Amino acid sequence: MRIVALAGGIGGARFLRGLQHADPKADITVVGNTGDDISLFGLRICPDLDTVMYTLGGGINEEQGWGRAEETFTLRDELAAYEVGPSWFTLGDRDFATHIVRTQMLEAGYPLSAVTEALCDRWRPGVRLLPMSDDRVETHVVIEDDEGRRAVHFQEWWVRLHAAVPARSIAAVGAEDAKPAPGVLEAIEAADVVILPPSNPVVSVGTILSVPGIRSAVAAKTVVGVSPIIGGAPVRGMADACLTAIGVRTSAGAVAEHYGADLLDGWLVDTADAALAGDLGGITVRARPLLMTDVEATGEIARAAIDLASELRA
Ligand code: GDP
Ligand code: CA
Repeated sequence: MRIVALAGGIGGARFLRGLQHADPKADITVVGNTGDDISLFGLRICPDLDTVMYTLGGGINEEQGWGRAEETFTLRDELAAYEVGPSWFTLGDRDFATHIVRTQMLEAGYPLSAVTEALCDRWRPGVRLLPMSDDRVETHVVIEDDEGRRAVHFQEWWVRLHAAVPARSIAAVGAEDAKPAPGVLEAIEAADVVILPPSNPVVSVGTILSVPGIRSAVAAKTVVGVSPIIGGAPVRGMADACLTAIGVRTSAGAVAEHYGADLLDGWLVDTADAALAGDLGGITVRARPLLMTDVEATGEIARAAIDLASELRA
């Protein structure tokens, strides 16, 4: 089975591990979000691509869900001794090496897709990992606080401010002029199913879909999504703050309606939202436990997504 998944960071990566478990023979292409990418200390950092690469490649810090296992922080402490910031974005020594390799290759002229492939030569994630675009797209958030109304990088809002300052609007800067990375549209066209893991619907999946050409290519396929919202709240993180910013209620049903019946064919919701099961304006909704507690449980969620897609395709 040829599967394409559109993934953000932690929610996407954990689901993908379950997908591999559910169908070890599946040919999986992951289109990763690069809207969270940021340049710090002269280095290009791609948090979502790295979270997928480390999680599937066996290098992730399991408890945290991001960053490297067995990490040390000598470099961070040395930078702090020079009072060189920002101090709010944590980067460990092992992780720094990834960003150094990436930045060197980008500066030598390689596109991000080629750099990602080279990094994956080491990590062997067992999927084809493609950035959504080789062009620079950055999610910015308009906020208003004591310092006035201004746009900040997504990471500053999310990590430094913990999304506690309400977002007036969220924009994927550069998206309208971006092109899908080589292989993205081809993989979607060749896919038997496209799966939307329980990633952030606004700043992960929404950003990927904002790259011209991707949404219509996905909409032409059988698409099944897994709700990141359970019982009216995100399972972890602050996706509710993103949904509020774009005027969408934090509920599994509202997220499905936001994606729309033109895009989504099937939608898995948690048993806490079982009242939604049935037909939601043309989207087939099924309820089952959606907590990704371990690889087994996550594999069963992924299996349910594949089964629903196969059923809808037939
Ligand atoms: P990020 O880029 O690291 O924020 O990660 P993603 O965008 O891939 O995923 C974030 C989303 O994953 C959040 O909205 C969470 O609600 C969702 N999530 C995390 N753990 C679970 C889980 O166990 N089950 C479900 N259904 N969603 C989850
Ligand atoms: Ca992310």
